Amino acid sequence: MDVLSKKQRSYCMSCVKSKNTKIEDTFRNYIRSKGIRGYRIGRKNVTGKPDLYFGKTKVAVFIDGCFWHKCPVCLSIPSSNYKFWDEKLNKNVARDSKVNDTLEAMGVTVLRFWGHDVKKDVKKCYTRLRKELKVKT
Ligand SMILES: [Zn+2]
Repeated sequence: MDVLSKKQRSYCMSCVKSKNTKIEDTFRNYIRSKGIRGYRIGRKNVTGKPDLYFGKTKVAVFIDGCFWHKCPVCLSIPSSNYKFWDEKLNKNVARDSKVNDTLEAMGVTVLRFWGHDVKKDVKKCYTRLRKELKVKT
């Protein structure tokens, strides 16, 4: 059964999936240009599979797509299938918070950036990360 209408599907493909990948690249390219090293990408053996993981300083970075993680600023749930999406997205949010708790209990600092923040002000995100990594300027 196809639960997505054509319109919703094209919304998912164009807005969510491709942009989601792009914002991660935007962030990684930016911090690379600033000389930030020492991270691994998409570590599967770290809880929650952070987008970036700094093993030495134990900092996990998640770049959360605004749609999938229910960003309070950008949130728009497709109204035609509201209940389905609302439940699905709430599950994501609940999982995110569980991941945060687990990592923090392990002594890992969790940084979560919204997609729109990375898009709008990648420098601000970088500054925040740099603070956690205790990089000297
Ligand atoms: Zn957002």
